[in-house]
Amino acid sequence: MGIRVCKFGGSSLSNADQFRKVKDIVLSDPERRFVVPSAPGKRADEDMKITDLLYKCYKLAHTGQSYAECFSVIVERFCEIVSELGLDIDLLPLLHETEEEIARQPQPDYAASRGEYFSGIILANYLGWPFIDAAEVIRFDRTGAYASESTNEALREVLKDYDHAVIPGFYGSMPDGRIKTFSRGGSDISGAIVARAVKADMYENWTDVSGFLMADPHIIKDPKPIKTLTYRELRELSYMGATVLHEDAIFPVRKAGIPINIKNTNDPEHPGTIITVGDEDGQQNGTITGIAGHKNFTLLNIEKAMMNSELGFGRRVLGVLEELGISFEHLPTGIDTMSVVIADRELEMHRAEIMERIWERCQPDSIEFTSGVALIATVGRGMVNKRGTASRLFRALAVADVNVRMIDQGSSELNIIVGVDGKDFERAVSAIYYEFV
Ligand code: ASP
Repeated sequence: MGIRVCKFGGSSLSNADQFRKVKDIVLSDPERRFVVPSAPGKRADEDMKITDLLYKCYKLAHTGQSYAECFSVIVERFCEIVSELGLDIDLLPLLHETEEEIARQPQPDYAASRGEYFSGIILANYLGWPFIDAAEVIRFDRTGAYASESTNEALREVLKDYDHAVIPGFYGSMPDGRIKTFSRGGSDISGAIVARAVKADMYENWTDVSGFLMADPHIIKDPKPIKTLTYRELRELSYMGATVLHEDAIFPVRKAGIPINIKNTNDPEHPGTIITVGDEDGQQNGTITGIAGHKNFTLLNIEKAMMNSELGFGRRVLGVLEELGISFEHLPTGIDTMSVVIADRELEMHRAEIMERIWERCQPDSIEFTSGVALIATVGRGMVNKRGTASRLFRALAVADVNVRMIDQGSSELNIIVGVDGKDFERAVSAIYYEFV
């Protein structure tokens, strides 16, 4: 029998009803042996996530303000879930201890982690499964960096004695026992770590969407879901803004060759999206897998006659950016031209400084910034070695009257990135989508 590790996100555990759905899902498949819960999320738009309330309590406590009222909302939410599920546990003494401890802790991590901690206790009790505190098995080093190998050993050693367990997400502990959390959304990482440790056959990541869609539903009405995605495609799409999973969650499972299945707690029969290491099954939706993009980029365009034969030109340009701590996204070049694509947030007030240093060191014929550029990545393992993909893409953009300002194709042939005017962004995404889908 295989092993599945299931991580449930905050929206999957926002109230007692959601806990019921989670229990049904978990118990419907005996391979689902290890569960990693998040803290309860929002029940409605105007609601606050438990984790946000906990951060707020910490902030109030450490700025000399009363946080009793804020903490009472947390107590109420957990107690409501416990009583609606008819569980015979009294969380009040532990909750009150936690309330006091929040004020004593020098960092917010302890406070923030308690959402997952209590969510884990409740879920373990409801499933009738053992609860394993993540502080015992997920390790960070003295500097606060995640210690992957010692965690893997500790987890493997502990979990080998369990058929089932609930391990709360998002946190672990440092060598001195202090609680440390991952960055926000980090329960995805915990789930991946547990999946690696137990050598799971599948890491199920349960959320409130049925996997990845081929394009942003704010732009395309009812875009098709993506059935399978490779890790490399996932990286391209998430980098360009398609976010369902925490970026750091990928590494532990990818390395161990474990596929991820993104599933919807509110629609458990939907197959969701499967992220695989390779494309062994050769299955895919078509030529392209998905389209993602972002606005707010600037092109730094540099021209100089005979640039191609000037040794060190590129290094000097990039050296200026490095000195100013600016990272760039793409670097399309011509014979006598070079463009550097930079996110606006990176540039901020460095524009004049960049111009000045490049004039001085590279003596170009011209330099200019073009702002308001949007980047669109069309990603698909089906594009490799397939003739005509680029021509279809550019024809579709031309027919939609979109002017292409920049083109970049990675050597992997996994994606084609185009830069267009920000105002043409949505039109360009639609044109590409309807050409291929
Ligand atoms: N509860 C944490 C957060 O809101 C971690 C998570 O849900 O993954 O960021």
